Amino acid sequence: MVAEQITEHGLVDDPHLRRGARGYPLLPGGYGRSTYYTGRPSPYAVRGEGYRVWDDRGREHIDANNNFTSLIHGNAHPEIVEAAVRALSAGASWGIPNLDEWELAEQLMTRLPSLDQVRFTNSGTEAVMAAIRIARGSTGRDRVLVTDGGYHGTSDVALVPGGPSYTRGVPRGVIDDVTPIPLNDVSALHAAVEAAPAAYAAIILDLLPNRAGLLHITDEFVHSARELASRHGIVLIIDEVISLRLGYHGISGEYGIEPDLLTTGKTIGGGFPVGAVAGRGELMAEVDPTKPNSLPHGGTFSGNPVSMAAGAAALRLYPESEVLRLNALGEIVRSSVSARIAGTGWTVRGQGSLIRAVPEGVNKVDDATQHRLWWESYERGLLGSPANLLSLSTPMDKAVAVDLADRLADAVIAVSDKQD
Ligand code: PMP
Repeated sequence: MVAEQITEHGLVDDPHLRRGARGYPLLPGGYGRSTYYTGRPSPYAVRGEGYRVWDDRGREHIDANNNFTSLIHGNAHPEIVEAAVRALSAGASWGIPNLDEWELAEQLMTRLPSLDQVRFTNSGTEAVMAAIRIARGSTGRDRVLVTDGGYHGTSDVALVPGGPSYTRGVPRGVIDDVTPIPLNDVSALHAAVEAAPAAYAAIILDLLPNRAGLLHITDEFVHSARELASRHGIVLIIDEVISLRLGYHGISGEYGIEPDLLTTGKTIGGGFPVGAVAGRGELMAEVDPTKPNSLPHGGTFSGNPVSMAAGAAALRLYPESEVLRLNALGEIVRSSVSARIAGTGWTVRGQGSLIRAVPEGVNKVDDATQHRLWWESYERGLLGSPANLLSLSTPMDKAVAVDLADRLADAVIAVSDKQD
């Protein structure tokens, strides 16, 4: 492991770090995005193929990070590469519509039969921003109800459920228009909405909140949200940026819930930047430019043919049989890890192809613990996200799942020993 050394202007033992004339690393902290951070200088990815990634330290890993769950078909899937290269060679992106937008729209909307239309964005963050704008525009109301620990990206509104440590730099007015309530607290949900039903534009739910340790959201909570939203003319937004992979009809389908708007991203771009807001026709009419006074929706790269073509290929390669197969592999991982880590004070949570080990009874895991588990996993050739969210990809089979589970269990055991 690399020893950590921090100077006035940032980490110095990263061999790739480049400094500007005034001594600062060109990337703040030495990172191109803060979400890479694992407590010490990071390895660099060199190459990926299928479920494996190689890094610049000469190590081979099972890639269960999958760029934060987005690579549902692993690295460089030949059919996705072919689709992306075909779009790229034809010009990459244009300022008039392209046919691949229709193709991805069709692939996605067949999976969401209760919704009618979709608009593409460049990220999940933008999709959630658009959904909230549509909800506010259509209701004429401002307030948004969220759950503690729900993650909806990095817009001002989306940072509020993270609590005070996330809202530095977010204007007071934005914070005041967002009401966070505790997860699974049906009475708090009723109390918040019924105190001012005509104030709420939207209820937005993340049904597998990673920031809350993948805590399971109860059916009662989800269906109460649906019922309250319908009763009071509030738009129910289900944020499926991560969770769409969990069911052929997304996690909403697994809960038997019909959202008014659904946001997604990650897997539907085949590894390229993407987001989407899908919704009922009456609501999506808000962004219909043929109607007077419609809401703005743009984005230079929204709907770009490379993301669209790669995404359509990714969805074609993920029929219901593959959803079920990956979910079953997730069960194998969870049960095998559970058996091996019994007595360590850790547990394994998740649903379908998303897996996370957390200390028992803890929903918000501290950074130091997360980083320890990340590095113990890394040492065993297993890459997760810095929060140790693991996702499976279709190149994996049962043997890989068992191997992955062994590496994860070994890492958890190592971390728990160190905590003694
Ligand atoms: N919503 C949820 C539920 C997410 O998990 C994420 C990303 N992890 C986002 C929104 C934001 O997506 P992006 O990172 O593409 O902006």
